[in-house]
Amino acid sequence: AAGRDTLRFYDPQMQAVVSARAAMELDMRAGLALDQFELYYQPQMEHGRITGAEALLRWRHPHNGFISPARFISLAEESGLILPLGEWVLKAACERLALWADQPGLAPLDLAVNVSPRQFHQGGFVPQVLAALAGSGADGHRLKLELTEGLLLQDVEDTIEKMGQLRGYGVGFSLDDFGTGYSSLAYLKRLPLDQLKIDQSFVRDVLTDPNDAAIARTVVGLATSLGLRVIAEGVETEAQREFLARNHCHAWQGYLSSPPVPAAEFEALVLQTNGP
Ligand code: C2E
Ligand code: CA
Ligand code: CA
Ligand code: CA
Repeated sequence: AAGRDTLRFYDPQMQAVVSARAAMELDMRAGLALDQFELYYQPQMEHGRITGAEALLRWRHPHNGFISPARFISLAEESGLILPLGEWVLKAACERLALWADQPGLAPLDLAVNVSPRQFHQGGFVPQVLAALAGSGADGHRLKLELTEGLLLQDVEDTIEKMGQLRGYGVGFSLDDFGTGYSSLAYLKRLPLDQLKIDQSFVRDVLTDPNDAAIARTVVGLATSLGLRVIAEGVETEAQREFLARNHCHAWQGYLSSPPVPAAEFEALVLQTNGP
């Protein structure tokens, strides 16, 4: 296949990698049909209250147990399976939002949903989000989409157009993993974002590494002067939370409040934390 003048040796190891990926892709397709995917919810905190959650995908594999999205999202991206999978996530998230809106003890809660580049840049993304909202009756103002820097920079004009259309329905946008990607500041003022998310790699050593502390402070300052909110992820200790609050970070999430948990557990946590 590489051409007549090229000599290639058959590499059994490479073949094994290829078939393992093909097998996983088939498994994922089946998993989607068999309802093996589930959303977990991690609280997002503001002033000691739970104001919303981030939806994080989990795959309950019949033989291998729970498989982390870190292991299957990139493969889903490459194979295109992210399109039906991402659509499923949006639907499930909007259905959950609609349920929350009907429960006085829970509402109002926001829900943040991760969107992958291929999913966002497909032709039908905006109609897909609108269909998920309309089909569930969820309020667009409660839906926050988490986008990454790489996604935003792929075809900036198209990105701005899509964000603008969805904003018309109240949908908000967070820039996820801020500081780990292209780190070009020029586009920050062009893109209609609402929030920056400080990556957990800067939060981890924020108390011991002066560089991470400086980055965290700078992100808050930059965001604030651009009129954006800031949320920190990966907050595991009270000391980290205190540092971030002292430096005017608006919101946070992390194991300190809770790991991502099933919906029922999340809802119980909201009732317990926010009170009647
Ligand atoms: P992310 O969006 O950066 O999500 C944060 C990750 O950090 C999650 O891993 C979460 O469980 C974990 N985490 C939360 N709190 C803490 C903490 O205090 N300490 C530490 N060390 N980790 C914490 P998870 O759930 O394994 O997800 C991994 C990545 O997979 C996500 O990173 C996101 O990029 C992707 N992902 C998850 N769900 C979806 C989805 O529905 N669609 C897409 N496209 N990607 C998803
Ligand atoms: Ca995220
Ligand atoms: Ca993140
Ligand atoms: Ca991250």
